[in-house]
Amino acid sequence: MSSKPMPLAKQRTVRLQTLPLSAHKQQQIYELLHAFRLAKDQFLVELAPAKTWGFLDSKRGFRDAMKKAGAYPAGVNVHLVDQAAFDAVDTWVRHIESVLATGDVKAKIWRRYRGDELQRRFAYTCLNRYGWIGEILRGQVPVVGSKELAGLGEKERTQVARYLHRVLRKALSKHENPRAHAERSMSLDDTLYTTFTTSAPPAARPARLGTHTCDPEHRRCRQGHMRQYVEIIGCEPGARIALPLAGVSHVSGNIGLVADEDADGVAIHVVYPVKALGEATGPDESIDWGVTEVCTDAHGIKHGHGLGRLLEEFTEKNNAAGKARGKLHATTRALRKVNPGSRKARRIARNNLGHKKQARWRARAQSGVRTLSGQAVKEVVYGAGNRTRGRGRVPQLAYQRPRRLAAEDLSHLRGKAKSKKLSRICSTWMRSENQGRMVVHASIGGVDAKTANAAYTSQTCPEPTCGYVSRDNRQGDAFHCRNPYWDCNWQGDADHVAAMNLLARLADREIGVYTHHTEVKTILDERFRRRRESRVGARAVPQGTAGNGVQGACVEDGATAHGRTPSKPRGPRLVVGGGDATDSQSPEHAACSGETQRLESEKKRRA
Ligand SMILES: [Zn+2]
Repeated sequence: MSSKPMPLAKQRTVRLQTLPLSAHKQQQIYELLHAFRLAKDQFLVELAPAKTWGFLDSKRGFRDAMKKAGAYPAGVNVHLVDQAAFDAVDTWVRHIESVLATGDVKAKIWRRYRGDELQRRFAYTCLNRYGWIGEILRGQVPVVGSKELAGLGEKERTQVARYLHRVLRKALSKHENPRAHAERSMSLDDTLYTTFTTSAPPAARPARLGTHTCDPEHRRCRQGHMRQYVEIIGCEPGARIALPLAGVSHVSGNIGLVADEDADGVAIHVVYPVKALGEATGPDESIDWGVTEVCTDAHGIKHGHGLGRLLEEFTEKNNAAGKARGKLHATTRALRKVNPGSRKARRIARNNLGHKKQARWRARAQSGVRTLSGQAVKEVVYGAGNRTRGRGRVPQLAYQRPRRLAAEDLSHLRGKAKSKKLSRICSTWMRSENQGRMVVHASIGGVDAKTANAAYTSQTCPEPTCGYVSRDNRQGDAFHCRNPYWDCNWQGDADHVAAMNLLARLADREIGVYTHHTEVKTILDERFRRRRESRVGARAVPQGTAGNGVQGACVEDGATAHGRTPSKPRGPRLVVGGGDATDSQSPEHAACSGETQRLESEKKRRA
């Protein structure tokens, strides 16, 4: 397994805003979300013991069992409680999946059972059903009736189950069980709401509409002639709440209701299926995620410019505001010490120490990041200047999109803090955003998105005949190969180098996604050692002797004799000194003259 496919996005979420709601409707929404939260929290607690995890494979089974047990609260719409039960199951499933991902469980299994394919397969199969995971946690061995696993004995199965038990316990102990605390959102399936449209009241219509006629059949009108409502269930049985939307769209399937504390309205999240363009056939591509730009591809082209500035501005603003807040906090404390009921202190707390403005800054920064991230990923997937089909102006030819797209696995969050100023939370959020965009656009473009092992990709020389690994190769954004054995001198951009190496990892048979980074280093060092020795060996043959069929002492001739093509200057090779200039123009010549001297000095050192 040299790379791991990313999940396919079959759908994407679009956020529809409602118009400001009346106080009565806001109160109804609040009651609805409150009842939903209470019910969901109760179900989450019910699902905490591992013996109930069989229900995670069957939502309806869980709902029926809860109904039977009398867990449904009285006086609350039954459909609402059903939805809470389904949601609790979904939340637990997501929780377990994230525990498996952050605990590296699959990678651990892969490493542990590297010699035994059957045991490894059994271990992976056990993770396929949550009921089985529950059984393992209770010390049982799940009964997996698969033909492929028929050859696996009882003893081995027990041993695998015990190992999984240990690993899962440890992974789960690092996380708290999910609970429902916030009363901010809920999901509604299509039995819990209806939609209808009316013509908008004349007062709400823009004055300069003229004779525009809209199309009620397709419910499409961007100019305010029509008003669309989503009518959702209320908290009490039979109650309905009609929410007017700010625009007119297609609303169907499962929708989400999201309340925003600061706004008078709520948002409706609608999920649309992704329309795929068909399989891509272009050359493979890879990207290295960054902080200054969104990403760099294997051709050294940077996408999503301005990300660094955006993040820096936001961080600076946030830090400055934080400092000012600290001072004001101190002032209010001092004022309250003198007079506990100080009016000035109260005024400061109300007007200067709230979170509204902060939240607005953050939302603005996040939407900026989202835009850039989307642009960058679209450029990579559809080609520069291209947009999605939704905008309708794209040369969507299959060969313009890469067949495979490699990126590093972001779910591990391996330490790659390029910017110290950037807060951890911000970068975590950004990474998930990037990955989400990539999954969506890869799915639309028919691109096979993969995650590859990113260990040492920015420290390894990308020159195929070199591959020297050292921390010294990289200084900030610049890469300069410091190969001490021969004159490689490859120079370029560090992110570009990382992307090139990541692309090579796609086809790497030795380095898989789950290979531990220490092992990656060993493999890379070993490869470099072999290259070094084949070079030195070729040179050590005296001129004229046909010991191993090599004629002449020139290094590059030797390399050719070994079946490798002589190196050519590739990529954006920056030339610094005069000596390097000749080197980059005629590598063969330079290698012959310059390197013989180096070889001699090396011989002396060894002697
Ligand atoms: Zn090199």
